[in-house]
Amino acid sequence: MAAAVSQADGQVIVVGAGLSGLATAIGAARNGRRALVLEADELVGGAAAYSGGQVWIGANHVAAAAGIDDDLERVESYVRGIAAKEPELLDEAAMRRWLSTAPAAARYWEEAGAIGWMVIPGLTDYHSEADGALGVGRYLTNRPIDGRELGEWQGRLRRSPHFPVGVAYDRIAEVGRRAAMLEQTHDESDPLTFGTGVVAWFLRAALAEELVEIRPAHRVVELLRDDDGAVVGAAAEGPDGPVVEHGPVVLATSSFDWNQPLVEDLLGIDAENYGSVAPRSLRGDGIELARAAGADIARIPGTRVPMLPGWPADNEPGFTYGPEYALPGCLIVDAAGRRFCDDSYYISLIERALDPEDRHLPCFMVWDERHHRSYGLTTTPPGGEYPPELVSEAPGLVELGAKLGIDGAELERTVARFNQYAEKGEDPDFGRGSVPFVRTYAGDPAHQPNALLGALAEPPFFGMRLHIVGTGIGSSGVRIDGDGHALDAAGEPVEGLYAVGAAAALTSSGSGYNSGFSLGRGLTLAYLVSHELAGAPVADLAAA
Ligand SMILES: Cc1cc2nc3c(=O)[nH]c(=O)nc-3n(C[C@H](O)[C@H](O)[C@H](O)COP(=O)(O)OP(=O)(O)OC[C@H]3O[C@@H](n4cnc5c(N)ncnc54)[C@H](O)[C@@H]3O)c2cc1C
Repeated sequence: MAAAVSQADGQVIVVGAGLSGLATAIGAARNGRRALVLEADELVGGAAAYSGGQVWIGANHVAAAAGIDDDLERVESYVRGIAAKEPELLDEAAMRRWLSTAPAAARYWEEAGAIGWMVIPGLTDYHSEADGALGVGRYLTNRPIDGRELGEWQGRLRRSPHFPVGVAYDRIAEVGRRAAMLEQTHDESDPLTFGTGVVAWFLRAALAEELVEIRPAHRVVELLRDDDGAVVGAAAEGPDGPVVEHGPVVLATSSFDWNQPLVEDLLGIDAENYGSVAPRSLRGDGIELARAAGADIARIPGTRVPMLPGWPADNEPGFTYGPEYALPGCLIVDAAGRRFCDDSYYISLIERALDPEDRHLPCFMVWDERHHRSYGLTTTPPGGEYPPELVSEAPGLVELGAKLGIDGAELERTVARFNQYAEKGEDPDFGRGSVPFVRTYAGDPAHQPNALLGALAEPPFFGMRLHIVGTGIGSSGVRIDGDGHALDAAGEPVEGLYAVGAAAALTSSGSGYNSGFSLGRGLTLAYLVSHELAGAPVADLAAA
């Protein structure tokens, strides 16, 4: 049922046609307000379409229907617990608004036909030891959708180069992610899974709404303000020249992955050591636009940002990552030839690699022939020939060290110690293989006793320099309250300006992260902001 428009008859301008932007447009339109989505790129979907499509929603109705026991109290203590290392970064009120609204948002999007949910089988919360963690049930994703249902937009949807789109999630639990990637087939049907599938559902729903218009190839370059400083419109560069549109503005522009000055300022990583697996159209525009309109930027340190060890690849965006670094027969060292973290778990790697007191950049992935024969790397099949410009090879570890610029003698000692325990499935130094999420999601289920741990015993040895790659989650971003209002430095809303998704700083989870927070919070903010803008604000259950 379309509600009457009470707040305004004019349009809402949504900047960015990723997941949060599409959802905001659908929510506004379903409540009777016209939504114009301006998208910088020719393709829609943003980083969401490249993603794993894991949407983290505590105490959701899909898990409940499957008999999984969860409640908001446990959900809240989990998020507060994992944010405890730097509690000052956590906005408690925003956290409660997010967590208490997310289950209703998940239900709303399903009832709107914007998604058909399923629980991802076997996937546990990252920090399974934390108070309130759940074994399975909080990660939702889409049931497969046929891309042909998008009609002429089928070819305008981004497709993930990082996941075996078309393969169902349960296949990962069965054979492991790397093997599932190698199984990907292409025929004339177009089943879409992972983030590509999640976005396809929302895109199909947006296309079905008469009040939604999506304009690709329109990059917003300026926000218009009235004499009181309120945001009243946006100017974009379109294929036929400049375009000016009027209305309140929702920034759904995602993160700043491809804006190196912002990467250096907010994450503290130089260009040599950085890259991103998110689309190149993520240029931090939301931050720049909001700042120019008087909004504050909230900072979360790089050590707390979910980034990954990655490497260059022949794709858009030019980098990839994969479970290869987490598979048995592999480890990660710094230039001194030493390990420094649980190198199968990126949260541990980022925290230690970027530690301002004890940095470990550059860092390198080193593996052996058995890993080569079993797994391959990116598009190199198991046993195939690696791109020589990417991967160095040597008969021994000392020689490999010399090729990579690592202390080879120390590397040899590091590998000898690692090997002492690896085949027993143990890593007394850094606990590699001890995080259940990583075992399920990245490990080799056929490798026992530990899906993430195996000795580097068989020459030749291989190695490559790693880059820290962004994932369209910079964590820092536009400061918002729990309802998506952009705030100024005094904490007051900038009238007419909203931010949803990764454009907005992740202050609702502060220094803690779990996969799926980004998409889950993005869909929750889209629900809140779209309803408010259409004059149908969502009651605050957290305040009740
Ligand atoms: C490989 C990978 C795996 C991931 N896995 C997960 C996961 O499983 N779960 C999870 O929660 N998160 C995951 N993420 C992160 C997640 O995808 C992003 O944080 C999320 O997509 C951000 O959503 P969004 O709606 O804010 O923006 P996006 O989906 O990134 O969309 C933003 C859009 O805004 C457009 N835009 C930018 N600037 C402008 C401008 N000036 N004018 C107009 N348009 C503009 C962009 O082109 C883009 O289309 C993953 C990311 C990657 C890359």
